[in-house]
Amino acid sequence: MIEYCTGCFSLMPPAYVCVLVTLLDTRTAPGELKWAASPSEGGWEEVSIMDEKNIPIRTYQVCNVLEPSQNNWLRTDWIPRSGAQRVYVEVKFTLRDCNSLPGVTGTCKETFNLYYHESNDDKESYIKESSFIKVDTVAADESFTQVDVGDRIMKLNTEVRDVKVTTRKGFYLAFQDVGACIALVSVRVFYKTCPLTVRNLATFPDTVTGADTSSLVEVRGSCVNQSEERDEPKMYCGADGEWLVPIGGCLCISGYEEKSGACKVCPVGFYKAKSSDPGCAKCPPHSYALKEGTAVCECHAGFYRADSDPPAMACTQPPSAPQQLISVVNKTSVVLEWSPPRRLGGRSDTSYNVEYSGSQLCLPCDSDVIFSPRQTRLMTTRVVVSELRAHTHYTFIVQARNGVSQVSGTGAAQSVSVTVTTNQAAPSPVTFVQATDVTRHSLSLAWQQPDRPNGVILEYEVKFYEKDQKERSYRIMRTFSQSVDVAGLSPLTVYVFHVRARTAAGYGEFSAPFEFSTNSDPFPLIGEGVNSAFLLLSISGLGILLLISAAVFIITRRRSKYSKTKQDSEEEKHLNPGVKIYIDPFTYEDPDQAIHEFAKEIDVNSIHIERVIGMGEFGEVCSGRLRLQGKREIYVAIKSLKAGYSDKQRRDFLAEASIMGQFDHPNIIRLEGVVTRCKPLMIITEYMENGSLDAFLRKHDGQFTVIQLVGMLRGIASGMKYLSDMSYVHRDLAARNILVNSNLVCKVSDFGLSRVLEDDPTTEATGTYLSPGGKIPIRWTAPEAIAYRKFSTASDVWSYGIVMWEVVSYGERPYWDMNNQDVIKAIEEGYRLPAPMDCPVVLHQLMLDCWEKERAERPTFSQILNMLDKLIRNPGTLRRTGGDRPSAAILETDLGTDVCVSVIPEVCLQEWSVCEWLQSIGMERYRDTLAAAGYTSLDICIHRELDRLGIITPSHQDILLARVQQEMFSQMEHMQHTMVPV
Ligand code: AMP
Repeated sequence: MIEYCTGCFSLMPPAYVCVLVTLLDTRTAPGELKWAASPSEGGWEEVSIMDEKNIPIRTYQVCNVLEPSQNNWLRTDWIPRSGAQRVYVEVKFTLRDCNSLPGVTGTCKETFNLYYHESNDDKESYIKESSFIKVDTVAADESFTQVDVGDRIMKLNTEVRDVKVTTRKGFYLAFQDVGACIALVSVRVFYKTCPLTVRNLATFPDTVTGADTSSLVEVRGSCVNQSEERDEPKMYCGADGEWLVPIGGCLCISGYEEKSGACKVCPVGFYKAKSSDPGCAKCPPHSYALKEGTAVCECHAGFYRADSDPPAMACTQPPSAPQQLISVVNKTSVVLEWSPPRRLGGRSDTSYNVEYSGSQLCLPCDSDVIFSPRQTRLMTTRVVVSELRAHTHYTFIVQARNGVSQVSGTGAAQSVSVTVTTNQAAPSPVTFVQATDVTRHSLSLAWQQPDRPNGVILEYEVKFYEKDQKERSYRIMRTFSQSVDVAGLSPLTVYVFHVRARTAAGYGEFSAPFEFSTNSDPFPLIGEGVNSAFLLLSISGLGILLLISAAVFIITRRRSKYSKTKQDSEEEKHLNPGVKIYIDPFTYEDPDQAIHEFAKEIDVNSIHIERVIGMGEFGEVCSGRLRLQGKREIYVAIKSLKAGYSDKQRRDFLAEASIMGQFDHPNIIRLEGVVTRCKPLMIITEYMENGSLDAFLRKHDGQFTVIQLVGMLRGIASGMKYLSDMSYVHRDLAARNILVNSNLVCKVSDFGLSRVLEDDPTTEATGTYLSPGGKIPIRWTAPEAIAYRKFSTASDVWSYGIVMWEVVSYGERPYWDMNNQDVIKAIEEGYRLPAPMDCPVVLHQLMLDCWEKERAERPTFSQILNMLDKLIRNPGTLRRTGGDRPSAAILETDLGTDVCVSVIPEVCLQEWSVCEWLQSIGMERYRDTLAAAGYTSLDICIHRELDRLGIITPSHQDILLARVQQEMFSQMEHMQHTMVPV
């Protein structure tokens, strides 16, 4: 039975009121109590009476006041403790006043004693008196003096005693009468608990009070539903059954608020974001909550909330586009200014980003472009962009942004763009200069192209002076190449060098000073940047490899005196020991297989795209840099396949790489690799600084010597010979498909199979000659290929003749403005292009040979190459021209500047001395060096060196020669190109 302690804790709120748990109550006992009494007769007696409400109750009475030495015991049944540690005994009794009883003096008592005995045994039959522990002697507050039998008036005493019971499961109580007249009207035994309660949103369970009157029981609360702990909730249960000292508590979780000690859900249209928020609040402007229990209201369509926006903030919008963007170009800088957006979207954190591009692919372009104050998160409406490239179209996009631009995903709609073209600017300074081959009187200076050439570099100027002289007296040298040999220097003297570049826009600034000292040695020291053949030469005493290479060269040259046919086959054997044949990628069922067989896949992250340099059939062509792991960074050209391509376009695009990847020749554009694993697809090739040959020649009309032009033609012929050796027919050989690098080396490119007609769109519809197999570049194509698509190496030779004509005429259009039909007709009728102005007769003759109607009559590329080599070795043969310009001027060489002509005197061709060999490769300056070392005949030298090394077996000497043969041949070819005068 549970009873609240009302009355005793009347000032406490109900939740704090203790609960009494009754263990025994004689008033509610169903029948006789039958407690054990001692003595069993004449002592305590059980009597049934009616209480004040006329309800029958069981009582015990004793009234032996007349007899002395009374000792009457009454013992209750076993009372289970039920977890209680302190129990309360409430006894209601009546006690007769001894004075009211006549003749009882001396024997009558007015008290009784209360005892207890703890026990686990619920049925102890006999308990010694001494086993009981006295609780108290109980006296009556009020005793009645008379018994009014008629109306039964009784005065009832109520006494409560508490006892600590902790050792056994239960206990017995005992009442000792020592001679009183007493009636136990009721006995009630109970204990106290602190009742289940909720405090600070934590539930504390019903808790039994402690054993001592001063003890506190520490209780941990648990959070109510939909709440979470703020601080550990704790309270103490006091001995009187009240809760004390509440600590910590819980908070309603998001979407719920506290009401009447519980967590109630937020209604529709309301929200609560955090447990610590005081309660549910109405959704802020432009937001809504359709469900109960919302933590954060949703934004209305078109409105957004940034991650950092508090839930109580209204939903907002991105800004509209900036207004009135204006640009002012100043050389290679652009000032951009604009007005703030018309609509700020309800926010105050508008900022601006500026993007720029030359095209979609090349974004972002130059990493060294400078934005002031910065490029992104601009708080101002003005930015200065500098360090742009000269003469370049740039599109600048100014984007207004605020905190919700990113989440709204509508960046493009908030921008405004402007396209500008930067002005001409002089090249940036040369930053790296180095000296090699330093001797007593000379050194070779080499440098890198300026980071920002800002156009085609027409020339470099080298200024130098003795350091001691300061700039009081200096010398100037000019050169087209990136190196110069400086002679006439004083020994052991420090010189200061400055280099600057010139473009059409004028000279750039001089480089910072670079100091180099001449030495006391007549021989050059080995330095960085010297090519390998060159290095070998400079080693005093010459190493074995040099001798072997020299020998190879001699053998090769001697063989050149053989018949043309013989020489061709021999040369073929040297160059193509395995006779590699080109494989048409279209013979692969899966074009991807071909591409991966012939081209290396490049990680797009190793490519740094810089700018657009041209437009190809499939998309833009950009320049950039490629840095492969473990390799030096190189400049590359990047062709991309524009978006939205068809399967066929993809195949054709990649086919070019599959073809190019099969070639390896200094006059064929080199494929670095492809990007096929991500979009856009890219083909990466070596970068050719001077772009396509036709445009390059047009730009430099009349600026080259005939030797230089022939040097270019030789390169093209060499590349074409290589292609024909591999049985590859180009079909579109034209100056526009030849690329030129900074050393004037020409390389054959464009191996796409789908041909684009060269005619510009301004020509009439007949500009396109559509053969059954596709478009044909009429002006470059042999008649049999136009007529019945008979493409062959011989038809490539015809095209080569046209390229010769383009080169010598500095990029003139073949057949000028004649239409294609007229060209076809004229050729059929035997008409051939005349010699361009100043064209050496021998060159025009070679062109006419290439344009033989009968293809069998045309020379092979091998023969063409041979012929050009002869012309280079015998420049006299180039003097005779059919044009008006004096030939002497063309051949004039200015040895005072950086000119190094590989002209070999006729006499040298007769006997192959060291001197001649050096001359043939443009290294005659080392003649004295070698002569001083005692080398006059290479044949003798090589055998002497091999013998000295103990390699005397002739077959071994042959193997050694063969091993270096191919390497040296290509080196020499390369040298010939780079030694072409400027
Ligand atoms: P293409 O697709 O080969 O016709 O190339 C289009 C244009 O891009 C050419 O006319 C060149 O001006 C330029 N170009 C292509 N490849 C290179 C390269 N490797 N180096 C420099 N410029 C190139």
